[in-house]
Amino acid sequence: MTAVPVVLRSAAPARAAAAMPVDGPLVDTHGRVHRDLRISLTDRCSLRCTYCMPEQGNEWLARSSILSVDEIVEVAEVAASLGITTFRLTGGEPLLRTDIAEIVARLAALRGPDGPVEIAMTTNGIRLPELLPDLVAAGLRRLNISIDTIRRDRFAALTRRDRLDDVLAGIAAAAASGLRPLKLNAVALRDVNDDELVDLVAFAVEAGAEMRFIEQMPLDAGHTWDRATMVPREEILAALSRRWELTPVPGRGGAPAETWLLDGGPRRVGVIASVTAPFCGACDRLRLTADGQLRNCLFSIAEYDLVPALRSGTGPRATAIEERLRACVWGKLPGHAINDPSFLQPPRGMNAIGG
Ligand code: SAM
Ligand code: SF4
Repeated sequence: MTAVPVVLRSAAPARAAAAMPVDGPLVDTHGRVHRDLRISLTDRCSLRCTYCMPEQGNEWLARSSILSVDEIVEVAEVAASLGITTFRLTGGEPLLRTDIAEIVARLAALRGPDGPVEIAMTTNGIRLPELLPDLVAAGLRRLNISIDTIRRDRFAALTRRDRLDDVLAGIAAAAASGLRPLKLNAVALRDVNDDELVDLVAFAVEAGAEMRFIEQMPLDAGHTWDRATMVPREEILAALSRRWELTPVPGRGGAPAETWLLDGGPRRVGVIASVTAPFCGACDRLRLTADGQLRNCLFSIAEYDLVPALRSGTGPRATAIEERLRACVWGKLPGHAINDPSFLQPPRGMNAIGG
C-alpha cells in the first residue's frame, strides 16, 4: 500500500517549459537560483507528532518504492553539478535508515562547480547517541534536532511516545560533538507548549544551541490545522520579549528563520513564520521524497517523478534526471498561497514530504 493515494505528477506549465534553460544553475521563472536540496530518506518515524502524523492507520510508502542509496547518490550527483551546495537529510526520521552513514559519506564526497557540498540533517535525535560519531566521521556538518517540549508528560502526549529522555540524550550527544551551529526546532502549539517558549530557549542556551520556533503549518496528516488557533510569530516574539531584549540579526538571505540576538548576543533565537510572514521570495529549496518525487515547495500539489529516469533503464540517466530537476524548479510558483482562500493542503503529510 502506498502512502499517497492522489498526487498530481505534472510537468512544468507549458508557458514556462518553452523557455526553460538547458544549462547554467537551477533557476526558476522568478529568477530564484536553487542551492538547497532536502532529501527525505523515509516516511517512517519513531514518534507520532500530532501536527505531522496520524496516531495509527498511516499508509506507508511501499518499501520497493523507497530510493536506494545508489539512486539517491545518482540524483544528488546531478544536482551538485547544477549548483546544489547543501543536502539536508530528513524524513520521516532519517536515522531509521540502516544505511544512513553510507548515505552521508557518499553525499559528502560530492563536489559541485564551486567545491564540496555540505551535508545537514533534521532529526528527532533519538538515535544520535549511537550514530553520531559515525555520522560526523562520514561528513555530517550540521544538525537540527526537533524538541517541542521539555516536560515529559507533554512530550508523551504530543509525540504519542514516552521518549523525551532519548531525545534529551540525543541533544546531549550533539552538544558534546563539534557540530556547530546546533539548532533545536519546536513547533509552537496553542495550549500545548505556548507557555513554555522561554523555558525552551533557556534549555537551548544551556545546551549551546539555538532555539527556533516554527509556526504550525497545514501539513498534518489529519488535515486538522486551524489558522484561528495557531501561535503566530508576533505572539512568539511578545512572549520572548518579556524575558530578553531581542535584536534582529540582519542578512537572512534565503534562510527560513529570522533570527534575533538575546540580550545583545551572542546567543540567538529564530522564528520560522511560514504562515504569517512567508519568505517565498528568496526561497532556494527543492525537495526529493523518499519515493523519488521532486517537489518545488512544501505546499505544492504537483510532483515531478524521477522514477522513470532512475528505473526504466532507457536513455542517458543523468540527462533525464537533469531535465526533471530543471522542470521542477522552472515550474515553481511565486509563493505558497497558504493565505489564499483557494489554498489546498497537499495530500501527503509532512512525514512523507520531508520537512
Ligand atoms: N523527524 C525529523 C524531525 O522531527 O526533526 C525530521 C522530519 S520532520 C517532518 C522535520 C521538521 O518538520 C520538524 O522540525 C517538525 O517539527 C516539522 N514539522 C512537522 N510537521 C509540521 C507542521 N505541520 N508545521 C510545522 N512544522 C512541522
Ligand atoms: Fe516524526 Fe519528525 Fe513527524 Fe515528529 S515531526 S512525527 S519526529 S517525522
